[in-house]
Amino acid sequence: MTPEDERFLRRAIELAAGAGASGGAPFGSLLVGPDGEVLAEEHNTVTIDRDITAHPELKLARWAARELDPETAAATTMYTSCQPCSMCYGAIQRSGLGRVVFALSTEQLVGLNPGAGWPEVRQEGPALYDEARVPIEARNP
Ligand SMILES: [Zn+2]
Repeated sequence: MTPEDERFLRRAIELAAGAGASGGAPFGSLLVGPDGEVLAEEHNTVTIDRDITAHPELKLARWAARELDPETAAATTMYTSCQPCSMCYGAIQRSGLGRVVFALSTEQLVGLNPGAGWPEVRQEGPALYDEARVPIEARNP
């Protein structure tokens, strides 16, 4: 972690504080390109948008996938006030971003906010392999 990383992390924390002060959930993130320029900033808008996916990390990952070429995305760092949740981490992986730097870990967040987090959801499967593989194999002969 460099002094520059800490500077961008402080900006993410500032975005989180701003979101919290305006009645939203206090989470913020930004993307910093290969030359150290801020490409985009976001904060949590789950409440105002009535959208459970409106986490700043997910919004930035979608922006990066849409707006950046793969080489630039790979050289871009996401700075975020808290460690990305599993939903956001999946989007970050798919976006091609090269690096994530976070302030609070998920464990630290839960420690500060007991009861935070999401319940486990039972998943069942695999099933119907011979039927389910058909559309996959049709796409990848
Ligand atoms: Zn998230």
